[in-house]
Amino acid sequence: MLFNYKYSGSSQVDSNASSTSMSFAPDTLREPTFFRGTLSKNIPFREAISALHDVVTSDLRWKPKDKDEYKAWAAEQERIYLEEMRAKSEPIKIKVKELQKQLSVINAQSSRIMRPFYEAQSKFYSYLYKKDYDAWFVLDPVITVHPDEIFYECFSQDESSYGRLGCSYEVFKNINEFECGTTNIDYSDALYKEFQKIRNYKETDFVVDPSGFEVNTDNEDSFKELKIDLPDSWVRGFLQVSSAMTLDSTQFDLHPMDVYNFCFMLRRNKTRVGPRYIKFVLEPGQPIKAIFEPWGKEIVCERSPYLGNESKEVKIWGRRRLLILERLIPVAKKFKVRLLGTGLPSFFIADLGDMNFTLGLSGWTKNDWSKAGNFDLMAPRADVDLYTKKKIFETLKENWQESSDDLAKRMNLDKSIITGALSAYTQAGSVMYDMNKNVYRVRELSREKLPMDKLRFSNERERSANQMISQNRVSSNGQSIGDGKIKITGSVGRNQYNTELVIDSDQRLIEAECQCHFHQKNKLFQGPCEHILATRIHFNKSKFN
Ligand SMILES: [Zn+2]
Repeated sequence: MLFNYKYSGSSQVDSNASSTSMSFAPDTLREPTFFRGTLSKNIPFREAISALHDVVTSDLRWKPKDKDEYKAWAAEQERIYLEEMRAKSEPIKIKVKELQKQLSVINAQSSRIMRPFYEAQSKFYSYLYKKDYDAWFVLDPVITVHPDEIFYECFSQDESSYGRLGCSYEVFKNINEFECGTTNIDYSDALYKEFQKIRNYKETDFVVDPSGFEVNTDNEDSFKELKIDLPDSWVRGFLQVSSAMTLDSTQFDLHPMDVYNFCFMLRRNKTRVGPRYIKFVLEPGQPIKAIFEPWGKEIVCERSPYLGNESKEVKIWGRRRLLILERLIPVAKKFKVRLLGTGLPSFFIADLGDMNFTLGLSGWTKNDWSKAGNFDLMAPRADVDLYTKKKIFETLKENWQESSDDLAKRMNLDKSIITGALSAYTQAGSVMYDMNKNVYRVRELSREKLPMDKLRFSNERERSANQMISQNRVSSNGQSIGDGKIKITGSVGRNQYNTELVIDSDQRLIEAECQCHFHQKNKLFQGPCEHILATRIHFNKSKFN
């Protein structure tokens, strides 16, 4: 999906001995959004914006190790050992010495001849590296100015972590001017390094630069135009995590020391085999327990009792992403935790006083089709007619942010209609749910409308699997087969194909069979067929209902 940005220059941070001024360049193609203020909570802001940077660059996908250097070294060593062995007799030793001399001359010649090639090659690699490096930041954060709060949102490169930093106006000493709206901001690694220079004793000005749209048009050079082709899967991931925020969840608070203990546990232990989850054990009135597998280690959060009424166990994966919270521990008062359910997204909201930081973790990571079909977060949740929907959106936009209760009262409508309509706007990227204040906020993720039908499913098979489920053409049955594995059998579609799936203790699909042509031809090499997907989604749904 192609996005066009036109920044008024670059975002800049200027530091001197007594002051720091941060100026964010907004996208001038969007509605004018601006803000000017002076920070009063410098250190918490520095830590929080740095944590946001960690989300932007977070990439926990598996990367193969580069063994080339070791291999070259080993080959060279082998040659030397061989020579040493052969050189046991004196005459041979002399000959070897002579040959080595010749060899070094030849080597020198060869490297002289090859030098231009290696230079060009290294230039090429550094070009690739730089190009790739910049690609980290094409996923520029979005900034939104609201009457009560200014907030940044971003989504990680590996399409699995969402970050939101909200700064209430108490964070600023004086606010000169602001105009509500949402815009993308120019962001770079250099900017992150400049953030590290923020100090308590220095006055820090904070500007979303309004001159971007006051600049006269003949000065076109100062604009930075960008065309960014974001993968559909990235946009879908962002929307899925956003719409997960509107769903009911299990809630509890953690003391910053508990989060410290989690991070300590993750730093101290390595995982070579699965399962790799954290299991939260929640008993009413009892301290929250977190069990880390496969080590079987338990952290009892003595300072954090579970206040819910029902005993629960929830497992979450991708726990190394929690290390993003590390920088916030010294400045956080507490962490609110929201768990949607086993294998589903989870949220950690750091309470930083006048600021709040939400870390959203998807239940999946990029390209991980073995977890596909876990939950259709983009499914419409209520039938609200187009007129009412639009009216609700426009009413929300009058105040920019509002709770569903207040909106229901103000519009004299049933709350379920309000939440139905607003969850549809959330799925479309026009509204976001603020888990910190429990309000809906107007936030247009992009200037142009997002193509929702294209985004909802990642492929045709996923679409057709969901269709079969909505037409009640799927049945499924599961049983434990030991080792935390579950075997699911199903009967799917008009043709009543029989399917058989095995899910391991990390919720990955490890074996699957189906009678259809697609599966017979491709097995799992192209991902699961629609029948296997449908069986899995159906089974998951029956578990959650
Ligand atoms: Zn099939």
